[in-house]
This record gives sequence, structure tokens and C-alpha cells, in this order.
Amino acid sequence: MTWETIIGLEIHAQLSTDSKIFCGCATRFGDEPNANTCPTCLGLPGALPVLNRRAVELGARAALALGLHINQQSIFARKNYFYPDLPKGYQISQYDQPFSANGELEIMTAERDEAGHPIEWRPMKIRITRLHLEEDAGKNVHEGLPEVDRYSYIDLNRAGVPLAEIVTEPDFRSSWEAYDYVNHVRRSLQWVGASEADMEKGNLRCEANVSVRRVGDEKFGTKVELKNLNSVRFMQRAIEFEVARHIKVLESGGTLTQETRLWDDRALETRVMRSKEEAHDYRYFPEPDLPPLIVSSEFIDEVKKSLPELPEERRKRFADQYGLSFSDASQLVADRSLADYYEETVKASGNPRASANWIRSELTRELEAGGLSAANSPITAANLGKLIALIDEGKISGKQGKDVLVEMFKTGKGAEAIIQEQGLVQVSDTGEIDSLIEEVIAANPEQLANYRSGKESLLGFFVGQVIKASKGKANPKVVNERLRAKLQG
Ligand SMILES: [Zn+2]
Repeated sequence: MTWETIIGLEIHAQLSTDSKIFCGCATRFGDEPNANTCPTCLGLPGALPVLNRRAVELGARAALALGLHINQQSIFARKNYFYPDLPKGYQISQYDQPFSANGELEIMTAERDEAGHPIEWRPMKIRITRLHLEEDAGKNVHEGLPEVDRYSYIDLNRAGVPLAEIVTEPDFRSSWEAYDYVNHVRRSLQWVGASEADMEKGNLRCEANVSVRRVGDEKFGTKVELKNLNSVRFMQRAIEFEVARHIKVLESGGTLTQETRLWDDRALETRVMRSKEEAHDYRYFPEPDLPPLIVSSEFIDEVKKSLPELPEERRKRFADQYGLSFSDASQLVADRSLADYYEETVKASGNPRASANWIRSELTRELEAGGLSAANSPITAANLGKLIALIDEGKISGKQGKDVLVEMFKTGKGAEAIIQEQGLVQVSDTGEIDSLIEEVIAANPEQLANYRSGKESLLGFFVGQVIKASKGKANPKVVNERLRAKLQG
């Protein structure tokens, strides 16, 4: 490897407040354009901003969920630029005294195979330059409106919606590290209720600064900013594309331009949006209409106390308390409702490993097919736990259990009701099983001869035949034991 990839990330996460950060307008998504506006968020002369306490609380939840320190004093500042969706001509943000600065965050990241499947996980430290609070801008709308070739339409419902901007140092060395980081941040913010953090809805937006340099070089290469990354996977692909493009240009003796590029998810390539001949001068200065934001240590303690057990702590506890593998435990803490669901299932089943297996395989398959999540699963955790307990007690077989689960998912009924309705009882009675075994042996004399002359792998064939003859009701453990004895002759 002669090239090294350097990536830094900026995330904008919408904080889940009901009203905007500096006025009382609703943050509701999907309302009539410009319905949720007032003199303050329209930038009318004389209107004054008032800071929304809830936005500060959620900002604090976000910072603490990421393990960041919160500054007792931060200053709002005006970031001046001209754009049609920015009615005041400036955005209220934070500059040299942000809400949180110089943090560090540990994530788990994985080496991956060609298809992107994780091979081996390892911890990694990421330096967080800053987390600050700011307002969002409005939106230019170009679709579905008359004469869009002649007019730009502006919707200011989003203007003034609270954001947390989280900026990292250029610490990522591969697109997958960036991918694992964004997923970590997204889950952390969702977990503590700071943000819905849904990239497809646009309430989590991500920009990547990408460059390459020869291994051993101190100086960074020319950096390109990637935007329009509508999912974590698109971001990962866009970075891969860009790295390959940089290396190709540099190896053929060309030069790169510092520019902003957009990811096109149909063409699977990046395109120039604008080139940056020089850095923007935003002429930041302290916002004169807002006092410094003072956050007391009591306030921070209160927020800390109200946080749930965080995902990484919970993953470690799952491994210790339930004996789960890293992969099982990680999967089960992918979101908070799934982790809760798992623990409730264990309470009802008394079997942590089987609960993890059933949730990760059978239940997840049904949920995914139905476009659902654990939070709105038609099978309650208590009912799934009961099903697992019935299998452990030998009432029904594991195979029958899978069919029962599908039926439970369809009808929302409990396992016992379905077992009764369908007459699904596992046969463990040796007399009944023995007579099935005799039938099967009589019908397969050739296999019997082969088995007896040493081909022991045929045992599986006989087990399969007996279970089939029982219409799936025979207890496989009993079948196995009885068959071994009978086949010896
Ligand atoms: Zn407003």
C-alpha cells in the first residue's frame, strides 16, 4: 500500500425538540410550506431570538451520550453568508467557544471482506474537534412546482430548527472506519432521544472531507468535501469512489482541485458541485442578541442522571451477564427497543442464548419482511420467551417452533393457543417412535445393509425419514437414541 486515506467527518443532527431553537414555531415535518414561521425565523427586522431550553438539554444528552465534556460557557455567533434559504443573511451558530470541544470517543470498527461483511472488530479512538449548537437554514424547493425552470421556491419551515454539529479530526483511514463511526453516533443519539438521526429523512446529515497522501508523507493531500450522502452506505461508497479517483489522478501525474462534490447514487459517482478557490470568510462575531450560554454543573449532573444505560455499557453487560458473543451482543444493542425486547424475552424464557438466536434469526427475518422493528413486533417479548420455554421443555420441537413463530407473527396469538389449535405436540413416546422406526427400516433395506457394513453417516438419513413419517412431530433427540439402538440390529 503506497497511499494513505485521510477522512474527517461533519455530522449535522436535528435535535428532537417540538419547537425551533430561537422561537416557538413547530418543527413538525411535512406541513404546508412556510406554515411554521414567525418574524424571528423569517428574519424580520426587530425580531429577537430566545434560546429554547429543551434544545440545550438535548444537546447535552447528545454530548454526554458520546462521552464528551460540556463547556460551562459557550457563545452563540453569527455566521454570515448570503443564500436564498437564509432569511437573516446569517446563521446563528457557535464559533470559538462551542458547547463542547476537544473530546475523544471510542468506537468499535471492523476489518471487512469484499462484500462488506465484518471479519474482525477492534476498538478505535476518534478525536472530536467540537460539538456545537446552531440553527438550520430553510430549503430551496425545485420539484413538483410550476415553472421551476424560471423560479426558485423557498420553504422556511426548517429555518431555525435546532442542530448539533459534530466535527471530527481527520482521524479515519478507511471508508469503513467512517461508516462505523457514523453508525455509532447515529445510534448514540437515537438511544438517548437526542435526535431521530434518520439520514433518509434528512434529520442526520453527513459530510466527509477526503484526501490521500503517500504513506510516510507529513503533509495532507488536496481535500475534497463530499455532500448529498443520504445513507451511511452511500457515504462509504462515495468515499471509496473518491479515494480511487484521487489515486488515479495523482498516479497519472495530474493535480486535484479543492472542491465540493455531490454523490450521485444512480450513477454511483461523485460530481463537482462547486470549487473552492479560497476558504469562505464567514466574518463570525458574537451574536449580540443572545447572552453567553451558561450551563451549570447541576444541570449537567441532572441530564447525566436521566440517561439510560448506554449502548456500549449494555453490550458489555450482555456479554458478561448472558454469555453472549461479541457479534450477538452488538447486534442486540443495535437499537434500544431491540435490547429491551431481548431482556424481556430472556425473563420469560430463562434461556439467554436461545433467546438471542431466536431474535437474531427467526424473529428478525419476519420483522424485516414486514418492514417492522422490535418496538412494534406483533409477537410480544413475553410470548416469544414462552415459545422458547415450550421448546426447551420438549413440548414441541425446534422445527415446529419455527412454524409456530410464523403463525404468532401473523395472528398475534400466544404460542400455547397456536399449539393447541394445530394439535402440534411433539412425540417423545418411545413406543410410538419405535413403530415409526420399524416402518422406515423395513422400507429401506439397502440403506440398512450399507449402514450395518460401516456407512454410519446414513444415520442422518434414517433420522430424517422417521421425522418425516411423524409429520415433523417426533422428538429428534429420542429418534436419534432409539435409531442407534435399532440399527445395530
Ligand atoms: Zn419562528
